[in-house]
Amino acid sequence: MESNQSRRSFLAFLGGGAAASAAPEAFGWQSMPGASAPIARTGDKYILPRKVLLWECTRKEIREAIESGRLKAAIVPTGSTEQHNEHLAMIHDTASALLVAQNAALRLYPDVIVATPVPVGISPYWMERKGTLTLRPETFLAVVYDICESLRTHGLKTILILNGHGGNASPLKSQLPGWRAKLGVQLDACSYWEAYTEENAARYMESGMGGIPGHSAEFETSVALAAFPERVHREGVDYSKVKLNLKSADDANQDKKYYEESLLATPEKGEALIHIAVDWTAGKIRQMMSQS
Ligand SMILES: [Zn+2]
Repeated sequence: MESNQSRRSFLAFLGGGAAASAAPEAFGWQSMPGASAPIARTGDKYILPRKVLLWECTRKEIREAIESGRLKAAIVPTGSTEQHNEHLAMIHDTASALLVAQNAALRLYPDVIVATPVPVGISPYWMERKGTLTLRPETFLAVVYDICESLRTHGLKTILILNGHGGNASPLKSQLPGWRAKLGVQLDACSYWEAYTEENAARYMESGMGGIPGHSAEFETSVALAAFPERVHREGVDYSKVKLNLKSADDANQDKKYYEESLLATPEKGEALIHIAVDWTAGKIRQMMSQS
């Protein structure tokens, strides 16, 4: 994945097409893909990336897609707004879940829509680091449930919650039996890094499976370098001078280890890892749709 050719084809995969340099902005959270987004090539189709984003569609578009039977499923991305060490933006987990969700939905167009991402998660353990926002588990879970119920009300029969933040993972999975019973739809929740196996982790990551998802380390930094490099800020960072004043020495050691591992990150690793996650997510929701 190191040639210029592969970089160009990756940007095209992300939706850049001929205007490849516009791709990172087009898939960012800050500038949500809208009418100005370039046309995405997905398989043999060319479509506007906004067409798979519920919040960028009109009610007419959504109504007609549902009533015609074309639109069958939704992905609900969940993330966080939390410290990501010295060099990554707080929105990383939300942006990465959205990136994977949108690209999977583009593959399956017009069957799948991406709901508005939940941008704050369960992150109490990072509150010693400035900037982190956290929700109580019951608040977070209530928001996710209500989004799923809204989608079900509109007639969507398959819902995949695609998570990008470690602290949300177990609470979401623990709710699945109850939520399935209440909603009566094909419902699942997974984190996008469940796509990775020991084999592909060892192939692309120097820190191996133990580095996935990590936290702002080799894995997440590689994803950011590939998909939204404008959210990686190495300028002015000197980790040796950082004073976090963390209460736990283990926490401090882990923070330093993650920073050091982030130096192993490359955009090429991120490209390969994103491709795997998008393939896996598209396969998962395709399988869910076949069962509903
Ligand atoms: Zn993260």
